[in-house]
Amino acid sequence: MMPTLFISHGSPMIMLQDLPSRQFLEHVAETLPRPKAIVIATAHWLTRGPAVGGAANPKMIYDFGGFPKPLFEMQYPAPGNPALAERVAEMIAASGMQVGIDPNRGFDHGVWVPLKLMYPNADIPVVPLAIQPHFGPAHHVAVGRALASLRNEDVLVLGSGTFTHDLSRFWQFPADAESQPDVVAFSNWMDEALTSGDTSSLLAYRTQAPGAESNHPTDEHLLPIYVALGAAGDGAQARRVHTSVDHGICRMDAYEFA
Ligand code: ZN
Repeated sequence: MMPTLFISHGSPMIMLQDLPSRQFLEHVAETLPRPKAIVIATAHWLTRGPAVGGAANPKMIYDFGGFPKPLFEMQYPAPGNPALAERVAEMIAASGMQVGIDPNRGFDHGVWVPLKLMYPNADIPVVPLAIQPHFGPAHHVAVGRALASLRNEDVLVLGSGTFTHDLSRFWQFPADAESQPDVVAFSNWMDEALTSGDTSSLLAYRTQAPGAESNHPTDEHLLPIYVALGAAGDGAQARRVHTSVDHGICRMDAYEFA
């Protein structure tokens, strides 16, 4: 059965630099069954209510500024899958949520950056899934849970965010700095809650985890992990499959749920 994954996409510079997190993304697909399609919840598509990308040929979205020109020329020509997008929307609606399909949604960099490293041939159809930051963790577990049966159909459900993500401090530290103390405290707490299956603590991370607010001033980059958790279904076990840090601030950790 297909696992679900949370991956950290970090900075778009991952496409131009040889980072440990890049090497992880370049090889993680070797550990997975080959998916027939990918549904990817991205921290860079924020909507009022659940939304699914239904384009047949999604366009590129360069939703970042101040980066080198080659990043704005990169392409990821994977097809969409309008029929799967329709089904995903039906599954979410069937669990009682209002959901929309955006027929024009393209690939933001939360989608194309990691997928270009994971599946460089761009030959697997991709359906983007939006995040609703104002609804918090439980809502995103529910969205994921609605999609849990996709694991039986060789569809890979991915959450794309960044495990810790305080960009206001990112440039204060050199690229190879060790994780800052609050980054370590938060990451260790999350790892313990994830790997022990302590869902009630995970849902209350904002008030219970040390450094929750300093590591996620806004938490759209963490919420995709809750989609991956929910989509793994009851009884799935979380396993950390990568850890590294960029500039001592952005933990690039990845988790598999199976
Ligand atoms: Zn991001």
